[in-house]
Amino acid sequence: MEKEQTDMKRNNDKTKSRVMAGIYSWLLMGLIAFMGSTAWGQSDTVKRSNRKDPWAFKEIKTIPPVAPLTGGLWLKGDLHLHSRHSKESSNNPVAKILAFSRSVGVDYVCITDHDNHVDGDVANHTWADPEFRSADVLLLYGAEWTTTRGHGNVFSAKPYDHQRLYFVRDQRDHVIQSVVKELGIHLSANHPMGPKDHFGFSYDMIKSMEVWNSCVWSKNVNALLIWDDMLSSGRKITGRGGSDAHHGTPESPDKATPNSKQAAANYVGTPTTWVYATARTSQAVVDALTNGRVSVSANPYAPRVEFYADLDQDGKMDMMMGDNAKPGGKPVTFRVQLTGKTATDSSYTINVVKNGNAFGTYKTTGKEAVIEFTDTPTTAGRTYYRVTVEGPVTPYPEVPASMALSGNMVALSNPICFNFDPRF
Ligand SMILES: [Zn+2]
Ligand SMILES: [Zn+2]
Repeated sequence: MEKEQTDMKRNNDKTKSRVMAGIYSWLLMGLIAFMGSTAWGQSDTVKRSNRKDPWAFKEIKTIPPVAPLTGGLWLKGDLHLHSRHSKESSNNPVAKILAFSRSVGVDYVCITDHDNHVDGDVANHTWADPEFRSADVLLLYGAEWTTTRGHGNVFSAKPYDHQRLYFVRDQRDHVIQSVVKELGIHLSANHPMGPKDHFGFSYDMIKSMEVWNSCVWSKNVNALLIWDDMLSSGRKITGRGGSDAHHGTPESPDKATPNSKQAAANYVGTPTTWVYATARTSQAVVDALTNGRVSVSANPYAPRVEFYADLDQDGKMDMMMGDNAKPGGKPVTFRVQLTGKTATDSSYTINVVKNGNAFGTYKTTGKEAVIEFTDTPTTAGRTYYRVTVEGPVTPYPEVPASMALSGNMVALSNPICFNFDPRF
């Protein structure tokens, strides 16, 4: 009897603890569901809004055909340089910048002096300088728009009314935007993550951004974050470089300033921006910066990264970086190629980013200098791919101290895009 009672008690206890365990797990599941439906995300049990999102992705009817992949030429240059017309520059007249550019084979430069140092009147300073002319190196018109909310560069093939842009620098973005439109200029964000002068304007006003400023690569890592945010949200903004060099090598030791040592570390070409231009003209350079057929290399002698896609897997490439196409729902073969002086006995690492996330890492040697990968871009939304290349430093004897500062960053490409709305 006693034993029976004990057994019954034991069984009761067992049942009780089973019931309690059931209640606990039920409570736990309820709690998880509750958490899931609040700040921690969405749950299937949550009633979804049936309001229609008017901005949801719709099939894009027409994307203009991709421009030819041949018939153009690769031009290299620097898009951010300060001459003696910027107050804090030293030993850097326009003629010195042009002579140096010529000596290292640079095809184009844009001298971008601080506009606030001349009340926006760059037309009567930098552009009016008797040294501001060149028969070989293409010379773009531009300036660094130096404002309370940050810095931007203008790139133009011909003179424009820069002072108008200077005057509206503190106005609302929609006012600035209308001036940029009226002037028909290419505005570009500078050092967007600069600690003292980040770009504090709407990125809807710009066509390109400086994702690689100066020889110090490590300063730029966060700029890629902003670039990926812009690309992921459908803003097809071109990534470009700019040395932001202010100081030239002094003619004689007595002309040296405390900043003169910078000339050996950061000068024309650190980094170098490559554009695939349809002709050797300033306008073709600006057009390429706008359409995105652009890559950036650590210096003028470093290999150039080219990024292509074969849409129908027939072995013939159909588009390159900066291009945008409608995906066919079939696998696409992508090719990353290093062109120029690669270190044949060294290995290069190619990192592929897809929609802001790491997609894959590939190794190649300087001898092969090419890798391929395959992926199927979705037909139900936007996709982009871009690459960065790491590897051995290419010597740049004319700017010898730059090599240690650029680290193992060799080059980066612009994105290959699918389903980016051209009317966005
Ligand atoms: Zn600046
Ligand atoms: Zn600058």
